Amino acid sequence: VKPRWINVMASTELGQNARLVRLWAPTWSSRLIAFALIASAGGARAAAEEGLDADRGRFAKLADECRRSDFVRLADTIENWLGPANSAEYRLFRPPASRPAVNANSGAAESNLFAKFIQLRSARAEKLYERARGLSATDPSLAYQLLWAALRDDPEHVAARRALGFEPTDQGWHLPFSAQQIKAGRVWHEKFGWIARDDVPRYEKGERRSGTSWIAAIEDARRHADIRRGWKIETDHYIVTTNHSLEEGARLAAQLERLHHAWRGAFAGYWLTAKELQQRLDAVEGGGRRVEGGKHRVICFRDRGEYVRALKTAQPRIEMSIGVYLDAARTAYFFAGKEQDAGTVLHEATHQLFKETRKPTISPAERPNFWIVEAVACYMESLAAGDEFDVLGRKDTGRLPAARERLLDDGFYVPLAELVHYDAPQLQRDPRVAKIYSQSAGLAAFLMHHEGGRYRPALMKYLQAVYSGKGTTATLANVAGTKLEELDRQYRTFLQADQQSLPADRADNPR
Ligand SMILES: [Zn+2]
Repeated sequence: VKPRWINVMASTELGQNARLVRLWAPTWSSRLIAFALIASAGGARAAAEEGLDADRGRFAKLADECRRSDFVRLADTIENWLGPANSAEYRLFRPPASRPAVNANSGAAESNLFAKFIQLRSARAEKLYERARGLSATDPSLAYQLLWAALRDDPEHVAARRALGFEPTDQGWHLPFSAQQIKAGRVWHEKFGWIARDDVPRYEKGERRSGTSWIAAIEDARRHADIRRGWKIETDHYIVTTNHSLEEGARLAAQLERLHHAWRGAFAGYWLTAKELQQRLDAVEGGGRRVEGGKHRVICFRDRGEYVRALKTAQPRIEMSIGVYLDAARTAYFFAGKEQDAGTVLHEATHQLFKETRKPTISPAERPNFWIVEAVACYMESLAAGDEFDVLGRKDTGRLPAARERLLDDGFYVPLAELVHYDAPQLQRDPRVAKIYSQSAGLAAFLMHHEGGRYRPALMKYLQAVYSGKGTTATLANVAGTKLEELDRQYRTFLQADQQSLPADRADNPR
């Protein structure tokens, strides 16, 4: 068994910023509700918004109308619907399964205005869908994001739903596995995963179904105590096995689904080809159903001891880690309890997504450019959850504050010309490894967000080269079309600009 790379230094470097580890607390106010997936200014944003500028005027006018009638909440919602014109973060909407209904307490006047709002949104969804179709051959990644944006405006846009693989049920649109569950009379319960709707009251009273009979939760736990007979929690994209508890499995599975959604949006340029998008769009007309790949496998042990015992032969130094993705086993491993760290789960599960979503991929550990493999996993640690959308790359999340401190306060920086040579063993041996991880997180954010995402397409090409085994030490400069020294310089500018533009309310209150 070849030695594999493990994420041993995550906690050390994060420890210095312990307050930033709370990744999954809802953190922002509703006024930030914003434009769907198209997070950036610049070329991509301009192409997406072309011809849609007039919408801003239409939404503003309707908001005014609501305000004059004293429907303040509705006015606020409409006014903020399109969000700020520019944003340095990545916002990933999770559209509801169906169209929102008017508030039951609304009178006729308010209901009318609400209906106008829904009309405006539906018209916009149609334009976004048409734009997506137009861009599918030349910019599949942006087109994919526009399809999601269309769903945000109209959760019942049939063609966009179909293109993204959703199926209709009597409870709105769902992905195939969820739709199948709903059609079988099951509901997703945040503690127990998919269970029969009729079983919910008994589950909540502490009973568990076992075949056709019912047993006590404690007996259920005894039967699943061995990881080989652990609970299996299945979702649209994951199978989580755990011997800790059904509840831990369901919680972890939900967290992983959120990551999956965010990652697919942010890195569409990595995994989605024009051909595949075309197949998705063709599927709208019933021209063939897209076949999804297998589900990602995740195992969560009851505790650290079991995790170490189970993995020590496959992975040297496993006892130093708190999570690992083993690509030979195509499985990510974690353990439950207080030592589990949300950032580590996001990090290792991101390695899994990069490795398993595109085919074929190689194991990137023993080649140059390994830093970018870690960089994008560290970047995904910045995922922060909200009610309607999740956010990536916000300055105060994950390792991004540490990245800024390393460069701007400590003057620590490993130039890219040096970094691109490292393979995993070299990086792991380097005494500066924890700081390099923080720096890498910052560099990934830079490549995603600098100047409205100008390097984002290059980043996707770079990742494709690295994961297909074609990356050399010249690849990054080639795909970016600029010298590495110039990227070093722009990275500094990026972090400095971040500091200046940090709004006072955020700087004072890290939340
Ligand atoms: Zn890693």
